Amino acid sequence: MSIFRLGDSGPEVADIQQRLVGLGMPIDREELGGRFGASTDAGVREFQAGRSLRVDGIVGPDTWGQLVEAGWELGDRTLYLRSPLFRGDDVRELQRKLNALGFDAGREDGMFGARSDAAVREFQRNVGQGSDGIVGPETVLALERLRPHTEGPSRAVVREQESLRDMRSGIAGAVIAIDPGHWVEDRGDSGPSGTSEADVTFAMASALANELEAYGAKPALLRAEDESPTPSQRARLANELGAAVCVSLHLNAGEPGAFGPTVYYFGSGTTYSPMGKRLAELVLGELTRGLGTHGTCERLTASLLRETRMPAVQVEPAFITNESEEGALTEPSFPSLVAKAVAAGIAAFFGHG
Ligand SMILES: [Zn+2]
Repeated sequence: MSIFRLGDSGPEVADIQQRLVGLGMPIDREELGGRFGASTDAGVREFQAGRSLRVDGIVGPDTWGQLVEAGWELGDRTLYLRSPLFRGDDVRELQRKLNALGFDAGREDGMFGARSDAAVREFQRNVGQGSDGIVGPETVLALERLRPHTEGPSRAVVREQESLRDMRSGIAGAVIAIDPGHWVEDRGDSGPSGTSEADVTFAMASALANELEAYGAKPALLRAEDESPTPSQRARLANELGAAVCVSLHLNAGEPGAFGPTVYYFGSGTTYSPMGKRLAELVLGELTRGLGTHGTCERLTASLLRETRMPAVQVEPAFITNESEEGALTEPSFPSLVAKAVAAGIAAFFGHG
């Protein structure tokens, strides 16, 4: 899809505005009807902050997808397992309710996958309905009648924390998916001296693959240097490869003074991945030590983090928009410095070092 931002206009912008208004964001009357002005920009940013999206005021694939998903409430449509999967806040609400009642619908990611299907059928059997896996009015009613307690920590998070404690597999032989962010035509953000993310991500990815091989792992790049898969296609490939861990490499962008590494893991205001968080903390610890700076771990709703089924992180070792960090990351030693730190963090996740 195209990307819409401040200054744009047209029917797509009007559609974005209608959805924002539907979600309670105030849009100025002069902008309504398709002019992307200051109040639309503010509305998009507020929406992004509330959904743990990157707050940049830009409506790209992730923000647009979330705007569409936010419009669905449980009961609005019939849900069942199909390809492509149903996505939306209605699916997330269904997963949350099933988990709260003790059925294992898996991660509350708003995507109706095989685990949601199994949980629905199990639920239907328990309430004496035909276990057809189809969530229509009857099943929604049965769910609501049981008044599941959906406040407090989600059962899916608790379950994942427990499986983290049980993780005993080693890094040797483990497939590690590596995603070099962006590509030749989508260069990502750029710095004051003109360096762009894509200039650096592939070098970082190759260096990381080398480091991981030294640990006995099986690194797998999610794109070739001249390929341009979408984030969803990259996530699907990581899933198909049966990767034990997925690492996406990008660079951060922000105010000129912002600096330091940021490691993102899947999460939003209502849910997160404990495995992803643990991996992010370990990688960040090694990165701050290796680069001699400090940084943060944050939740992010990005397609790659959300759609991968293994612990996944998005590593942004520096701000390309920071003049001195841009200088550092164009040094030939930078990719291997980052790669060593990220590999050490992954190894620690598998219980080494
Ligand atoms: Zn990027």
